[in-house]
Amino acid sequence: MKRSVKEAFTLFLVFVMCLFTVTGCSSKTPESSTENSVVQSTSDTNKKTKQSTDESTNLSEKSGQQEQSKLKEESRLKEQSRPQEQSKLQEQSRLQEQSRLQEQSRLQEQSRLQEQSKLQEQSRLQEQSRLQEQSRLQEQSKAQEVHSYEFILNTKTNVYHLHECTAVKKMNLENKSHITIKAKTKQEACQQIEAQGYHVCGICTR
Ligand SMILES: [Zn+2]
Repeated sequence: MKRSVKEAFTLFLVFVMCLFTVTGCSSKTPESSTENSVVQSTSDTNKKTKQSTDESTNLSEKSGQQEQSKLKEESRLKEQSRPQEQSKLQEQSRLQEQSRLQEQSRLQEQSRLQEQSKLQEQSRLQEQSRLQEQSRLQEQSKAQEVHSYEFILNTKTNVYHLHECTAVKKMNLENKSHITIKAKTKQEACQQIEAQGYHVCGICTR
């Protein structure tokens, strides 16, 4: 009987201890609170970290967005400046073409004027040479033209006179004779008369 009581007491003790243990486990107040706070703080830290991570993500996102918008702006400006650049190049090429055409037309005009002046000079020279030829022919035909020259001869003195000589009026009619010489010049006619033995009157040659 004593033994069973002892056993029962022991069982009761074990039960109580077990109970105590179980209760104590569930209410480890200060330690568990510390743990909790640690957990809390860890979670806070985690949260903070997460927040800061979020923030940094936000920041990086923001800066990424800024970068993107900057690139967009740049590309927009490029896009905007491209037509300007293009129109500038077109204007430049238009001006170059214009100046090229002007230079071309200037050269054409120059060459046209040169050609014109060459032709004018040529026609001037042709006209000059035509006139020279004409005057030469006139001179030639004049030189070849035969004229009649009349002289009065004094058959007694063998002197010949020009028609208008004053000595002719004083001449005796019996010594007076008319002669007509055909020659190209007066000098030639005189030479012809002199060849017949006559000499020129002193009054006529004055
Ligand atoms: Zn005379």
